[in-house]
Amino acid sequence: MRFVNVIIVGSGPAGIGIASLLNETDIDYVVLEKGKVGNSFLEWPEKMKMITPSFPSNAFGQMDLNAIATSTSPAFTSQKEHLTGKEYAAYLSKIEELNEIKVEGNTEVEKIIKSDEGWVVDTNKGKLKCNYLVWAAGEFFNPEIKGIPGAEYCIHSSVIKNPSNLEGDNFVVIGGYESGVQIAIELVDKGKKVTLINPIQVNRVDTSDPSQVLSPYTLERFAKIEKSNNFTEVHGIVKNVSKIEHNFSVELIDKTVIESKHNPICATGFSLVQKPIERLITFRSDGLPLLNKETDEFQNQENMYLTGPSVRHDNHIFCFIYKFRQRFGVIAEDILNKEMYRINDIVSLVKRWKQKGLYLSDLSCCDEECVC
Ligand SMILES: Cc1cc2nc3c(=O)[nH]c(=O)nc-3n(C[C@H](O)[C@H](O)[C@H](O)COP(=O)(O)OP(=O)(O)OC[C@H]3O[C@@H](n4cnc5c(N)ncnc54)[C@H](O)[C@@H]3O)c2cc1C
Repeated sequence: MRFVNVIIVGSGPAGIGIASLLNETDIDYVVLEKGKVGNSFLEWPEKMKMITPSFPSNAFGQMDLNAIATSTSPAFTSQKEHLTGKEYAAYLSKIEELNEIKVEGNTEVEKIIKSDEGWVVDTNKGKLKCNYLVWAAGEFFNPEIKGIPGAEYCIHSSVIKNPSNLEGDNFVVIGGYESGVQIAIELVDKGKKVTLINPIQVNRVDTSDPSQVLSPYTLERFAKIEKSNNFTEVHGIVKNVSKIEHNFSVELIDKTVIESKHNPICATGFSLVQKPIERLITFRSDGLPLLNKETDEFQNQENMYLTGPSVRHDNHIFCFIYKFRQRFGVIAEDILNKEMYRINDIVSLVKRWKQKGLYLSDLSCCDEECVC
């Protein structure tokens, strides 16, 4: 069985980001990717753009918010502030090429097995063994329609590649966070009617943390459709979806019923792609993996790390690239320590990563709210 010291599963920003740090050392690693580099981004709805702006701010010591490797900037690569999925995937491929990241494409990890000598990684191309496993499989390929009876009548927002091409003129969208609002904007722009259902007012901004409220980019665009006669916002929680003859009916807990000729669109988010490792995860009460706070190893699973948007520590949400990239260094440092790397080398690498925003160990800084 082939042995590689570190196996990283997934070549999105998290996997390519961790690999870029390991590339600065002589640690042997490989990235296993079921499709191509940036696979999830290649599958995004065509017109969907990143909500986080990119800007080549690197020269003054602040990385572009969407960069995942030092001395790179998606804004510089694409000459755009808000990149489409394809443009961001091209940025990731550029890093793969420039940094000579070792990616094995079309290799799907099917099962991870714990053994006395490390991890056995079972793929569609055979088994590999490693000492350290970094799970960077993301969330995109696990769209979630949680707890809605009749969900089979809904379409998840992620499978709608081009909302403008949807046939019909009257749609129900369930979920008023980024994806739901962006789809509503696109449909209303095309002259279609949209009823958007969300538990609370979608543009309510009671925190400055974009993980919990709409981003300024979306708020600005939403303001243009908010007053449109084609847009209706309904506040409530969906109880069930049913099909009555050729129509679909969405019933809310407060008994409001909204009818639609078309399948309701569920913009209800995503959750961690976890099937191959599910048996190994201890879950928090919110359903996310419980992690070691110092190293991002899965609880009770030494040398198996999580990186990406599902990382949580207490109430800190690392769901954006500019947030989760800051834990790359923490994982790399733990591996270097365990590999008995020279302490002076680790200290100087960590210092560099910290300066670049790729290393954050003190989470007390993440509570700050903007005052204006
Ligand atoms: C429309 C949209 C807009 C967004 N806008 C923003 C934004 O503006 N800013 C921001 O920070 N975030 C944004 N996000 C979220 C962002 O895309 C994710 O947080 C990010 O992609 C997560 O990176 P990742 O590397 O963990 O996962 P992914 O990018 O999903 O990469 C995971 C990779 O793992 C591979 N994989 C999965 N399972 C396996 C397996 N079993 N074996 C091998 N390979 C596997 C996949 O093919 C994929 O390439 C947006 C998401 C969407 C859908």
